[in-house]
Amino acid sequence: MDGAVCKDDNGNLFFGSQNGACYFNPEHIIENVQIAPVKITNIKSYDNSNPSSKGTIVPITNNKVELSHQNSTFTISFSVMDFSQTPQVEYAYTMEGLGKTWFETGDENRITFRNLEPGEYTFKVKAKMRNQPWGNKFTSLQIIIAPPIWLTWYAKLLYAILIILILFGILRFYKRKLALESRLNLEHHQHENDQKLNNERLRFYTNITHELRTPLTLILGPLEDLLADKTLSPRQANKISIIRDSANRLLNLINQILEFRKTETENRKLKVGYHNLALLVQEIGIKYKELNQNAEVNIHIQVDTQDTKLYYDHEIITIIIDNLMSNAVKYTPKGDITLTLASNEENGVKYTTISVEDTGHGISKESLNHIFERYYQGKGKYQASGSGIGLALVKSLADLHQATIEVESEVEKGSKFTLKLITENTYPNAEHQVVKEVHKSEENNEQTISIETEDGKPIILIVEDNRDIREYVRSSFEEMYEVLTAADGKEGWDIAQNQIPNIIISDIMMPVMDGIELCRHIKEDMRTSHIPVILLTAKDTLQDKEEGYAAGADSFITKPFSARLLNSRINNILENRRKTAGVITSIPETESEQENIENERKNLNKLDQEFLDKVTAIIEENLCMEKMDVAFIADKMCMSHSTLYRKIKGLTEMTVNEYVRKIKMKKGMELINEGKYSLAEISDLTGFSSVAYFRQCFKDEYGMAPTEYLKRKQN
Ligand code: ADP
Repeated sequence: MDGAVCKDDNGNLFFGSQNGACYFNPEHIIENVQIAPVKITNIKSYDNSNPSSKGTIVPITNNKVELSHQNSTFTISFSVMDFSQTPQVEYAYTMEGLGKTWFETGDENRITFRNLEPGEYTFKVKAKMRNQPWGNKFTSLQIIIAPPIWLTWYAKLLYAILIILILFGILRFYKRKLALESRLNLEHHQHENDQKLNNERLRFYTNITHELRTPLTLILGPLEDLLADKTLSPRQANKISIIRDSANRLLNLINQILEFRKTETENRKLKVGYHNLALLVQEIGIKYKELNQNAEVNIHIQVDTQDTKLYYDHEIITIIIDNLMSNAVKYTPKGDITLTLASNEENGVKYTTISVEDTGHGISKESLNHIFERYYQGKGKYQASGSGIGLALVKSLADLHQATIEVESEVEKGSKFTLKLITENTYPNAEHQVVKEVHKSEENNEQTISIETEDGKPIILIVEDNRDIREYVRSSFEEMYEVLTAADGKEGWDIAQNQIPNIIISDIMMPVMDGIELCRHIKEDMRTSHIPVILLTAKDTLQDKEEGYAAGADSFITKPFSARLLNSRINNILENRRKTAGVITSIPETESEQENIENERKNLNKLDQEFLDKVTAIIEENLCMEKMDVAFIADKMCMSHSTLYRKIKGLTEMTVNEYVRKIKMKKGMELINEGKYSLAEISDLTGFSSVAYFRQCFKDEYGMAPTEYLKRKQN
């Protein structure tokens, strides 16, 4: 019998065939056969990353296979246990974990799954005989695909821990940042408060110094005057000079404390100018030479360099040299002290050095490391009293000046302090200024010049809020001048407008109106702009001077001052004024004289130039007027008679009539030079009542009669 399965035209199955044709054989009818259970025969896994992998058989234990994530491509083979049934069997499978659907495979008994995700799956497979319905029996296999190491639970736990740690770290960082910020804020506020406090302190120190300097002025000023008194006995003079030296020491200490506060609070700024350093070094050296009372100590000044013009801060260098010199004097009982200015070159950089060398007690090795520290004082047996701030101040000022300070010393041999400045340093970040320096030589100029006003004595106005200083100045000057006094700037301004003094001396710090404002008022008013102003300053600061110069001040005197110094300064200023007046009113004969006059005129205040131009124009416009007097010009200038009189006197050293005559004579000379007019006509044109009077005035002015002048000109 042939066992082939055949179908009729309607699709009904039947079995058997003969000679290729189907026939129905009732014997062959199969009853409802029980299907044998399906067995999973093998499972073969492949390497995901290798398409040509041959595959490996995976052992099945307890209906379970475990595959790695790299081998998640696999083929499952299954078959019914009864092989005789195989030809009529159909299969269906499902993979729980991917879905619940059953897929029929027909007689295909191999299923391949590719790249399954890690996880747990249950593979179920069932079979049925063809034409029979699906039963409920199935065979299952649990498939576990292990995750890669980075997806394992412990990896995830690690991730979680890491994330928690990172979050914790971020939180901690943030908290710290907040804490730091609030601390910074706090510190910032504290710093601001400190700054405010420091400023307050500095202000306080400045004011205290002002207060201390004022009585010192009253001590030192009269002392200087007393010492100048030739009638004093040597004993008295000696005692007075001891008092003066002590007062000077007190003043130096006050100055040093103020300076120290200023550098400590970083309120000192570098202010440089291009000057001759040799002059300053010599000036300070000479001061110490003069002050030196120890016959066993010789002070030498040595300027070894030609290259002495450089940028430096006048005040800072003065303080540094002063400190080094006074220490040298203090610690050198006998021997030599040498102040040297030299220049040298190191590695192509030019340096200017100032050194103070002494042959005194010297400094021990232990002390040498500390002497530039604040409040440090040596402990040797020759230690003198002091504050220990001198060298600390020197060091911080040298730093500010971008200079170095070095010291060499040997006990019992002496010490050498060297300040090293970079010669070509232009200090681009510092304030640069052109400061009018007043040198001692000028201050010592004691010639007395008499300036006559129409009242005889020149008038000086003292504006000072301190009654004692006012009285001191008044008593010192009342013999030579007519002294007017005012207690503040406003009062001073009122007096200045009404009295037109010859010179004004004013304090800077005053109630109601300060000295700078007073100076500005004076210089900005045509009636008073010609009056020289000397400002008295308690603080020897450039800022005060700058403000003062900007307001038009002519000179400064630092408190404490002596009447002698003030007197010589007044004389200098008035003498200069006199010279200027002489030049600007002269009648030029040559071009260079004309140039000289122009230059002198330029030195005058703008308002004064305008004033002179205006007055001259009025005179020239009314040249033929015979009686041109103060009243006429004052009227035209809208000024009072006395103001006009004093103003012209102050500027030209001439009375109004003299000035009018001068202009007329100048014009007369021009007319003679033109050669068009007779003398009678010229005297008419220039407003002279007669030719004889014109002739007389011409002779007074030029030292020869007009006819003689003409003759000389023709020759
Ligand atoms: P002070 O002189 O007020 O004590 P300084 O700061 O000026 O303070 O000096 C600090 C110390 O350095 C002094 O106390 C002294 O011991 C030492 N010293 C300074 N200059 C000299 C010098 N030229 N010779 C010897 N010792 C000196």
